[in-house]
Amino acid sequence: MSSRQKFTITLIGLFIIFLVAMVLIVIINFRNYGIKSAESEAMLTAEIVKSGLTAHMVNGIMDKRSFFLDKVQSAKNIDAIWIARSQTVIKQYGEGFNNEIPRDDIDKKVLKTGKVEKIITETATSSKIRITVPYIASAFGKPNCLNCHDAKEGDVLGTITMVIDSNDGRIFGFNAVILTILSALLILGLVLFIINRFISPYFKVFYSIKNVMDNAYIGNYSIRVENSEHSESKDVATKMNALLQKLESVLEEIETKVYVFMQNQTLDKYADPLININSTIDQLSEIYKFKQTIEDDETLADIYERLAYVLRHNFGLEDFSFIEANTLTKEKKIVYSSKGISCSIESGECRSDRTNAVIDSTIFNHICPYFDKENCEYICIPYSISNEMNLIVSIVTKGKNEATKTRKMRSLIENYISTARPSIVSRKLMQILSEMARIDQLTGMYNRKYLDEFADKSIPQALRTGITYGILMLDIDFFKMINDTYGHDVGDEGIRTISRVIKENIRESDVAIRFGGEEFIILLYNCNKEYINEIAEKIRIAFSKEKIDAGTSSFSKTLSVGSSMFPDDSKSIWKCIKFADIALYYAKETGRNRSIAFDESLIKEGTMNEIY
Ligand code: GH3
Ligand code: MG
Ligand code: MG
Repeated sequence: MSSRQKFTITLIGLFIIFLVAMVLIVIINFRNYGIKSAESEAMLTAEIVKSGLTAHMVNGIMDKRSFFLDKVQSAKNIDAIWIARSQTVIKQYGEGFNNEIPRDDIDKKVLKTGKVEKIITETATSSKIRITVPYIASAFGKPNCLNCHDAKEGDVLGTITMVIDSNDGRIFGFNAVILTILSALLILGLVLFIINRFISPYFKVFYSIKNVMDNAYIGNYSIRVENSEHSESKDVATKMNALLQKLESVLEEIETKVYVFMQNQTLDKYADPLININSTIDQLSEIYKFKQTIEDDETLADIYERLAYVLRHNFGLEDFSFIEANTLTKEKKIVYSSKGISCSIESGECRSDRTNAVIDSTIFNHICPYFDKENCEYICIPYSISNEMNLIVSIVTKGKNEATKTRKMRSLIENYISTARPSIVSRKLMQILSEMARIDQLTGMYNRKYLDEFADKSIPQALRTGITYGILMLDIDFFKMINDTYGHDVGDEGIRTISRVIKENIRESDVAIRFGGEEFIILLYNCNKEYINEIAEKIRIAFSKEKIDAGTSSFSKTLSVGSSMFPDDSKSIWKCIKFADIALYYAKETGRNRSIAFDESLIKEGTMNEIY
């Protein structure tokens, strides 16, 4: 039910209550008035009859009193009238010609008490009042009652009873009620007319505004307030509509302007544009902050850390990895992993990179052979960074629902990756340049600059975490002779051969460095002395079996190895390198083509102070 209907019904209800109250008041008043006037009439008539009878008595025509009484009875509204004499009067004058004795108990009661008695009898169609009035003997009236009656002062001489029709009052009351109802209906009509004429336009515009507001609340700003003929309502409607129009067009304009910056949006078409714009601006501001921050990040690792933070905090992702895929060399490298690596892609072909499509295990089970985490689903999303590089975001999810949610994030994540793209490209370039500066061009191995950095950054960490390094120092025996015999190019080939042999005999976690000329250092990750000797021998033997191509002929060479153990031999990596060098020197001195582990006894007398 509308408020307008409620208002009208309430008004009519109140009006009916008011009307019923008024009618009841009128009815009660008129009834009381009818009874009162019947009473007064009866009292007056009783007085007249008393005076009349006294007059008849004084004039000695008491025997003619019936004419008088009949006349009185014929008066309007008097249904019956009778007189009853008291026993004293009956004794003195007899019962009278008209049997003027008490007719009922009421007459007797009044004769006895001398008090007026009245009885009202009301039915649906009639209203009667019976009044019995006593005549009291008095010596002080005119005439003096005691002159003629054998009575004392105050004795009841008789009674007069009248039955008076008081229906007139009720008829008046009824008429008044009819008139009241008619007037009330007239007033009600007038009120409704006024409401309709003056208040209704306000109601109309109010409901129209309510409709507009209801729609605007759920994001539909296209509804307008209905126009009205009523001038004030029309004014309100026009102003409201102008405001809505302005709001709608400004929103549209903002939408087009803002969405230019956020093309990858997953906006709810049916949602409030204000909420959509607000969430877009929120995202823009987040992305802007992200952009500002990564621009100041020094390394690519910092940018990936930042991106990981966004995935964790803005997208609620927990387990994910970033994989750099080189489109030219087909090389893959896991550059970030939030919860440990769950993909062995570095050794294989990435399907997501190859197809440039999202790979989703919830759509096809075990779609990727390189994912190796049990009871998990995964989604790998490829993002193009440059012509040479794709970044694969590999997200591990717990179930299908989470996977569906994650799939929907794809374009939103892309907003961040697009923003980071220039920074990733420039840092990648810097990384390549910096790596190149640390890589020896002839062998592709790390150079001495890298060893310096490694000693500064990774060795203190190794000391803290209890990681050991086996240090091998290798040098080709009589290398100079190759240069001298076959020329510098063949010498280079010899250097390339030894570097290949080294790479083939060490692990991914080990670090091989071209220390200078044909001298190499290998840092063997977390191993014991036996392992160091084993690797040293493996390399030595393998190299001695290699044939170095010298154009028309080929030849073999040997190498010597000195080894030490960090931090067992010294907590300083540089000292350990020096010890390996001492062991190498000893190997050279004692015939070459052998590997010698460092021992303090190898330190020549007099050189001890130089080392420590
Ligand atoms: P030893 O057994 O005592 O080590 O004898 P060796 O001849 O190998 O002596 P040494 O290690 O001192 O010789 C180093 C030589 O390596 C000197 C230099 O001409 C040569 N060399 C250094 N760098 C390069 C390079 O990049 N290419 C070539 N072809 N030769 C190099
Ligand atoms: Mg040498
Ligand atoms: Mg040398």
